[in-house]
Amino acid sequence: MNLMEIFETMEYGPAPESSAPGLAWIKEHQPFGLFINNQWVKPAGGQYLDSINPATGKPLAQIAAANSADVDAAVAAARAAFGTWGKTPGHVRARYMYAIARHIQKHSRLLAVLESLDNGKPIRETRDLDIPLVARHFYYHAGWAQLMASELPGYEPVGVVGQIIPWNFPLLMLAWKIAPALAMGNTVVLKPARYTSLTALKFAEIMQEMGLPPGVVNIVTGEASQVGEALVSHPDVNKIAFTGSTDVGRSIRRATAGSGKKLSLELGGKSPFIVFDDADLDSVVEGVVDAIWFNQGQVCCAGSRLLVQEDIADCLVEKLRARMEKLRIGDPLDKAVDIGAIVSPGQLKEIQRLVNQGVEEGATMWQPSWACPTEGYFFPPTLFTNVSPATTIAQVEIFGPVLVSMTFRTPAEAVALANNTRYGLAASVWSENINLALDVAPKLKAGSVWINCTNLFDASSGFGGYRESGFGREGGKEGLYEYVRPAWEATIYSSSAALPSTNGSVPSSNGHMTDDDEMDSAAVTASDGYQATYPPIDRTPKMFIKGKQVRPDSGYSRNVYNLTGRVIGQVGEGNRKDIRNAVEAAHAASGWAAGTTHNRAQILYYSAENLAVREDEFARRIVQQTGCAYAEATSEVQTSISRLFSYAAWSDKFEGAVHRPPLRGVVLAMPEAIGVIGMACPDAYPLLGFISLIAPAIAMGNTVVVIPSQQSPLSATDCYQVLETSDLPDGVVNIVTGERDTLTQVLADHDDVDAMWYFGPAEGCKRVELASASNMKRTWVDYGHPRNWLDTVQGEGEEFLRESTQVKNIWVPYGD
Ligand code: NAD
Ligand code: MN
Repeated sequence: MNLMEIFETMEYGPAPESSAPGLAWIKEHQPFGLFINNQWVKPAGGQYLDSINPATGKPLAQIAAANSADVDAAVAAARAAFGTWGKTPGHVRARYMYAIARHIQKHSRLLAVLESLDNGKPIRETRDLDIPLVARHFYYHAGWAQLMASELPGYEPVGVVGQIIPWNFPLLMLAWKIAPALAMGNTVVLKPARYTSLTALKFAEIMQEMGLPPGVVNIVTGEASQVGEALVSHPDVNKIAFTGSTDVGRSIRRATAGSGKKLSLELGGKSPFIVFDDADLDSVVEGVVDAIWFNQGQVCCAGSRLLVQEDIADCLVEKLRARMEKLRIGDPLDKAVDIGAIVSPGQLKEIQRLVNQGVEEGATMWQPSWACPTEGYFFPPTLFTNVSPATTIAQVEIFGPVLVSMTFRTPAEAVALANNTRYGLAASVWSENINLALDVAPKLKAGSVWINCTNLFDASSGFGGYRESGFGREGGKEGLYEYVRPAWEATIYSSSAALPSTNGSVPSSNGHMTDDDEMDSAAVTASDGYQATYPPIDRTPKMFIKGKQVRPDSGYSRNVYNLTGRVIGQVGEGNRKDIRNAVEAAHAASGWAAGTTHNRAQILYYSAENLAVREDEFARRIVQQTGCAYAEATSEVQTSISRLFSYAAWSDKFEGAVHRPPLRGVVLAMPEAIGVIGMACPDAYPLLGFISLIAPAIAMGNTVVVIPSQQSPLSATDCYQVLETSDLPDGVVNIVTGERDTLTQVLADHDDVDAMWYFGPAEGCKRVELASASNMKRTWVDYGHPRNWLDTVQGEGEEFLRESTQVKNIWVPYGD
């Protein structure tokens, strides 16, 4: 080719990055051992696996295939190390983490080459994105290690953390997991994905090189069925942090249910990429390239659903096809390549299967005219038009370079179409009208919203899902809470395990007497001698649904007994139907979240005021139900009033943050309501338990379906009169009385309930966690360890506010 010809075609020449240093490093180290206690050890079973180079299909390295004995050894090492690391001052941990960041930068090119060789992603991405972000993550979290004592007072590390990561961003996912864990003083056993362990092993070598204390980080490679499952079920692991598919996430939720292990899940997505007709279409085209062809589309938050305003759809599709013709696919180590190889033959087959299905379903498939390399696992960028929203390719995560496009007419239609998915990881909004973009962003059910940009990540800005994309955040301050727990919990959790919460409660309701004079008088006199006068027995509280007092669907009532077994009233025996009605009412009241925080504060203050007016009546009711001293009951009512004040105060003060990642722009981190929260109140503290749960939830804009204390429901049902007189909109609080565990099961199974809180016996907690896997609803349970609701540290504050919210990060770049 002569100069003139080159000038004519403007062809790229090859610009290969050398694989030699990477291959030499592999040769020196393989077969790779497991990294336990800063030593390389042989796998107990003596088995090894091939890791392949997806660009050639040929074996690249031999890695150890661990089994459960190796996992035991790694967990034991992490446990031993936790004894010291967990007490190591923040500043010292910060120094280690700073050293990790520095060492990653020193080895950055080797890490980039290894990542491209092992995963098949273009060197341009590993060199310019993955590895720099890895270093950034360790720097950022070194800062949190330094500041932990002052910025997270009252919190301590969780302990030994099991971390399981996918193959699509091997080293970056490792960093997202390890950096916050170490910063908060935990120790780690990490399992890389089976196809992509090499950079994790290089990382292990780095830790050895910079002298991280032995056992703080252990890397165990191998198969999911051997290593992953053993880690998840290990009794000495205190937390599991998982990134991967929703199906596996669901099975991990079930496997850990009731174990008391903390859990965070970063799962799949089918993220919308919304283009309004006033968007800058040339930027949009580059945005789409980054959204779906970045990393071959193997990105959890890939913009895989293109939603275009109807009038510009043809024009955009034409521009996109022209751009697709120019994308370069091939050797991942070629610096001019846009699209590399798919990670494995299995993944390639799955992409092809879903694409075939799309064609069968009647959508129009388009691929560029050029051909993919025949050696290795390559798949061309693919665009579907004419897609109907209910089809498989519009709903299922393809996890490949496949974009499906649909059209809309109005912003409202765009939002509806965008939210028409079980996932909720991310979304992109493209419009030159900032009013429109910022109006749409809060309406999208997604953890990250990118305005006129896409796939931006930074350690300062939390990342994570709504709905079935999982729960928990990685990055930002919110991500730290995944790796700590309140210090007071340790005292409760270590004290002789799960005692049933029987303080101030009655024995089982079977065979109690209803009119025994002797018992009567015992009940009338409180233990401090106060003579309680009871309201008449025929006063029958109803349930409270959609702002109305309603009778139970079942037509049955259940007796409420006092401490001595005397019947003191009846409440409705709620059933499945009542719960469904209540959930529907709670959904219909979702406008509550859109109202002002000032308004929510006003209503909470007003409820406190109305409760205070009836302080004596509520105190007597508590005495009547629990037999506690009148003075104690009064203090429960007064604490409830104070608690309402606290959340009235918080409702306009729990505000989120503005992050400044290294880009021209800002990221708005907004705590948003979760939606409909189902809650089962503790047995003890019939009023305070109820108020302590509903107040933070509604202060943050959620609507709730509450099952009051099963033993002592009358304080909660008395409250609806308070709520009715406090201007609370209908449906924001719904109260269904009855058998706690039966009703809880209906709520926990319900697909339209977004979170379930349960404060009751350990078995009940386990059932809630199990059932929650159906729609991946968030759960909050106490594993049968009752907290002291009178105490302001245990009974109110930030923990409750965090459980009531999920953080959305809205990225707003600026400048021309
Ligand atoms: P995967 O769920 O198959 O595997 C993820 C990891 O879990 C691997 O290390 C695997 O070995 C392990 N694993 C599999 N079964 C297990 C089990 N039963 N118990 C314990 N561990 C088990 O996912 P993948 O194919 O590696 O990755 C692709 C998926 O990951 C996609 O769904 C993608 O959306 C998701 N992902 C999510 C995020 C996020 O942050 N939300 C990021 C990257 C990838
Ligand atoms: Mn590989």
